[in-house]
Amino acid sequence: MTVSQKDPGETTLALVLKRQDYSENSQIGRLMTRTRGRASVLAKGIRKPNPDLLGPLDLAQLGEATIKWRKGDSLNLLTRWRVVTGFPGLRDDLNRFHAACHVTEILHEGHRDQDPDTARFDLAVETLAGLEVSPPTSVAAVTARFDLRWLGYAGFAPMLEGCALCRKKAPEKAAVKISPGRGGVVCSSCLQGSTPGLIPLASAPRRLLLTARDALIADAVALSVSDSGALAMRAVLDACLENVLEKELCAARFLRPENPLSQKASDELE
Ligand SMILES: [Zn+2]
Repeated sequence: MTVSQKDPGETTLALVLKRQDYSENSQIGRLMTRTRGRASVLAKGIRKPNPDLLGPLDLAQLGEATIKWRKGDSLNLLTRWRVVTGFPGLRDDLNRFHAACHVTEILHEGHRDQDPDTARFDLAVETLAGLEVSPPTSVAAVTARFDLRWLGYAGFAPMLEGCALCRKKAPEKAAVKISPGRGGVVCSSCLQGSTPGLIPLASAPRRLLLTARDALIADAVALSVSDSGALAMRAVLDACLENVLEKELCAARFLRPENPLSQKASDELE
C-alpha cells in the first residue's frame, strides 16, 4: 500500500448502499457515512487478502470505514474497512432482504454526497437491526416506520391524522383519501373538482401507519400486519416517497404482497 501512514483518513461508521467490482481486486462502493453523508469510495485491493480492508463490501453491511476524502469529482479512498455487522438475519429471508434493499435504495436516492444526516443514518441502522429479527408479518410495519420517519426528517411527513389543508381531524374510524402532492389526507370539503393522484386509505391501515410510525423499533417488530393491510400501506408510502424522490422505486414492488383478493379468487377456482 502506498497510503501515507501519517494520514490514513477519517474514521466513521458507514452503510454499504451499492458496490461493484472494479479492476481485478478492487471495488467501488457507494456508502452512507454517519459523519459525512453519502460518499463514493474506491477500495483498492479489497477483494484479495488485505489486513486493512477486510472485505469485500456487501450490500447493507454496517462497517467502520476510514476514508481519505478527495476534492472535486475524484473517488474518495477507502483505506480501512472493518465489518461491524452484515445483519445476517436479513440474508436468510427474502422479505427481510427486500425491505433492506428498499432502505438502502431510499438512502441512495434521497441523500446527497457529503451532506451528513446523522438522524436518518441512525434510523436506517436501527431499521436494519429490527428487520433482521422481524417475523414475516411485521416486515411491513418496520418498513412503514422507516418510510414515515425518513419522510418526517426530510420535512415531508404525510399528515395522516386529518386534513393536510384545513387541519380538520379525521375520525378514527373514517376512510380517507391521501394526496401525496398536498401533504397527506385531504377532506371532502377541501377536495376541489378532480384532485389527481388520490389514494383511498381505509381506517385500519391508517391506524396501522400511525401506530408503526410512533412505535419504538422493538414494538414495531411485534406489530402484525395482514397482506391486505401491507398492500394498503405500501400504496400510500410508495406514492409519498415517489412524490418526494421524483422517481419510481425499484425495491418497493417486492414489498407489495400478492393482491389477496386475486389470490382468494384463484384459490376458489381450484
Ligand atoms: Zn380539509
